[in-house]
Amino acid sequence: MSAPTADLMDYADVIARFEPVLGMEVHVELGTATKMFCGCPTEFGAEPNTQVCPVCLGLPGSLPVVNQSAVESAIRIGLALNCAITPWGRFARKNYFYPDQPKNYQISQYDEPIATGGYLDVPLDDGATFRVEIERAHMEEDTGKSLHVGGATGRIHGASHSLLDYNRAGVPLIEIVTKPIQGAGDRAPEVARAYVTALRDLLKSLEVSDVKMEQGSLRCDANVSLMPVGASVFGTRTETKNVNSLRSVETAVRFEMRRQAAVLAAGGEIIQETRHFHEADGSTSPGRRKETAEDYRYFPEPDLEPIAPDAEWVRRLGGTIPEYPWLRRARIQSDWGLSDEVFRDLINAGALDLIIATVDAGAPVDAARSWWVAYLTEKAKEREVGLDALPIGPAQVAAVIALNNKVAKQVVDYVLAGEGEPADVVAARGLGMVSDESALKAEVDKALAASPDIADKVRSGKVQAAGKIVGDVMKATRGQADAARVRELVLEACGAS
Ligand code: ADP
Ligand code: MG
Ligand code: ZN
Repeated sequence: MSAPTADLMDYADVIARFEPVLGMEVHVELGTATKMFCGCPTEFGAEPNTQVCPVCLGLPGSLPVVNQSAVESAIRIGLALNCAITPWGRFARKNYFYPDQPKNYQISQYDEPIATGGYLDVPLDDGATFRVEIERAHMEEDTGKSLHVGGATGRIHGASHSLLDYNRAGVPLIEIVTKPIQGAGDRAPEVARAYVTALRDLLKSLEVSDVKMEQGSLRCDANVSLMPVGASVFGTRTETKNVNSLRSVETAVRFEMRRQAAVLAAGGEIIQETRHFHEADGSTSPGRRKETAEDYRYFPEPDLEPIAPDAEWVRRLGGTIPEYPWLRRARIQSDWGLSDEVFRDLINAGALDLIIATVDAGAPVDAARSWWVAYLTEKAKEREVGLDALPIGPAQVAAVIALNNKVAKQVVDYVLAGEGEPADVVAARGLGMVSDESALKAEVDKALAASPDIADKVRSGKVQAAGKIVGDVMKATRGQADAARVRELVLEACGAS
């Protein structure tokens, strides 16, 4: 769909004349097994309307019950964002009519959110840090999905009819809202992208969501306004909805800055409205005029008890917050002594956690890294899957590395083909050549001790006599040693090499 062409100001001119102010609203779908207020499963991609019940369909007489594990995730997210956790807060009904909202209200939180007043120190591309203040994080339920059929655009306009899927209705959501972000200047688009990137990484490390932007488990709305340089009163903002990739966040903010600047410079006014983002050309176009809070007629949800997390629970959850992933990465890079470039390759390959686990399983860093980033990345590409979907894991890769086997790639191939653990493959396939050096040396010593006369011959320089010892070792290892290497070891042991 082509967006209406807007006049855009040159970016350098925007910066010379205006200060951008941003506000980011991020919705994250929690990865709980069941929905926010009922026991329906939350799995993505099921047949439409197969994961519904009277509660999430809003049937009369049904009553919601809060999902404890969703509250736990909400608290952990709040703590990770340095927020205060409310000791007591009610859910609220947000009333609006829309077909994907079967109750005609959404259970949300309004003036008593679970988490308030935090911040996130966001790493930027050049290594600097930008502090983004967090207004609040609150719990709510997701809506269903409408599918508008028969039109060219997939939007309701021009459609002949609409289909509704309530599988998503009632899936737990956390909405994280920033305070107005000021002072980013020309880096505002980058800050917006970096913030969502950091938040996504953080949520992933908390294991509260799969944070898949392309599947809608992380959704971002970007509020943008401009004020003249030196002013202190914010301009009117627009809210660009559902900007669903990290790159799009940056593009949308930059576009809105340039569009609004052109409007303002021409003496026009910015209307407070939502806007649609167009992936194809990176533009935005008008959506609907913005509702105000009054339009929603919020009131406390009478069917649910207030949330009252006790201090001990919150303290315990605080102990489960991991190191920020970007700080962890920086620490590991320096521990491993890797260059930025090498480390970036390993991150881009999605191999960091696999390499860490392989090192934890006893492998040296370089070997672990090269297996995952080179051979296994190649295998993953062939199969068109991610590294972590390969049928080989860190423990097996570490085992392969420990085998120190010349045919390690073959061993890996057989493991990938489902033939079992590396050691089993080696035994079954007779691939045990040159396995453990020290075991081999022990076999050599044993064979020498068993034939002292031959050993003496070899020691006195009759190297052709070594053949008998090599043969004995090959017999003892059931043919799985590398005969040439065994010969070297025999000669070494006899001081004849
Ligand atoms: P809404 O109900 O309109 O979505 P929210 O309070 O949930 O309002 O989110 C508005 C977001 O916009 C917040 O992140 C807020 O900090 C930010 N914001 C508020 N005023 C402005 C402004 N003038 N320019 C840019 N962002 C703003
Ligand atoms: Mg909002
Ligand atoms: Zn349900």
